[in-house]
Amino acid sequence: MKSKKIGVIGAGTMGSGIAQVFAATGYDVVLVDVEERFVERGLAIIRKSLEKLVEKGKMPADSAGATQARITPALTVDACKDCGLVVEAVTEDVKLKKELFARLDAVCVPETILATNTSTISVTLLGAATKRADRVVGMHFMNPVPLMQLVEVVRGLATVPAVIDEIVNLAKELGKIPVVVNDSPGFVSNRVLMPMINEAIFCLETGVADKEAIDTVMKLGMNHPMGPLALADLIGLDVVLAILEVLYEDLGDPKYRPCPLLKRMVAAGFLGRKSGKGFYDYRG
Ligand code: NAD
Repeated sequence: MKSKKIGVIGAGTMGSGIAQVFAATGYDVVLVDVEERFVERGLAIIRKSLEKLVEKGKMPADSAGATQARITPALTVDACKDCGLVVEAVTEDVKLKKELFARLDAVCVPETILATNTSTISVTLLGAATKRADRVVGMHFMNPVPLMQLVEVVRGLATVPAVIDEIVNLAKELGKIPVVVNDSPGFVSNRVLMPMINEAIFCLETGVADKEAIDTVMKLGMNHPMGPLALADLIGLDVVLAILEVLYEDLGDPKYRPCPLLKRMVAAGFLGRKSGKGFYDYRG
C-alpha cells in the first residue's frame, strides 16, 4: 500500500478498535464520525484500552502515547481522500452504507481500497454503489478488535485478487490472522454465531432456563469463553438484531427470524454493555 494513511469511518465499538490497531502498527489514522461527541467517545475508548495494555505490561507507555498521537479526529470523509485504505465501521444499515460508499468513491483517489467491517451486508452490493467495485472488500474484524485475532476477509463478486492479497497482508501486519471467505449473508462468522445467540434468547423467552443457566451451559458444556447472552451484550443487541434481520431477509429461511424478546429489548434501549443494560446490568 503506497499511502501509510488509513481512514476509519465510525468511531463506535468497532471503529475505535480498528483505529487503535492500525495506529499501534505505525499507520496514521483519520477517525471520522458525524458528531464531535461521538469522535471524543471513540478516542476515550482507545485511551482506556491502551491504558489497560500498558497496565498489563503488553505495551510500553511511550508506544501508547505514540499510538494516540497518530490518530486524527475528523467530522467529514473528505479528510480520507488520500488514504491508501478506508475501513467503514458505521451503523449496520444498508442505505447508510451505500450512500457512504458512493461518497467515499467520489472523494478518494482511485488507488484507495474501500473496505467494510459490516457483519452481514453484501460487499458486492456496497461495491456496486461505487465505480471501483474491484477495489471494494470486506475486512471484518472481531470484537474487541485489539484482542481478537481473526479478520474475515470478504471477497465480493467483483473484488480483484490483488486487493484480497493486499488486505490479507495488511491483516497479518496488524498481528491478525486473516481468513478469506466469499460474499454471502453473515459470511461464516455470523451465519454460524447468530442462530446460536438467537436460540439462547428464545430459551430465555420461553423459560427453558434463566440467563445465568443458559450462559453457564454453553461456557462449561461447550467450552465457550463466554455465554451467548453475555456475548450478545458485548456485540450490542441492536447489532445482533440488524444482523439477524439481514440473514432472515436475504436467505429467506425462518430459522433466522429474530426472537421477539430481542426486538423488545432493542425497542426499550437495552442494547447491552454500550447502553449499560442488556441481558445483564453493567451500571456501576
Ligand atoms: P456502534 O453503534 O458502536 O458505532 C457506529 C458508529 O458509526 C457510531 O459512532 C455512529 O455515530 C457512527 N456513524 C453513523 N453514521 C455515520 C456516518 N455517516 N459517518 C460516520 N460515522 C457514522 O456500532 P459497532 O458495533 O461499532 O458496529 C459498526 C459496524 O461493525 C457495523 O457494520 C457492525 O455490523 C460491524 N461489526 C460489529 C461488531 C460488534 O461486535 N459490535 C463486530 C463485527 C462487526
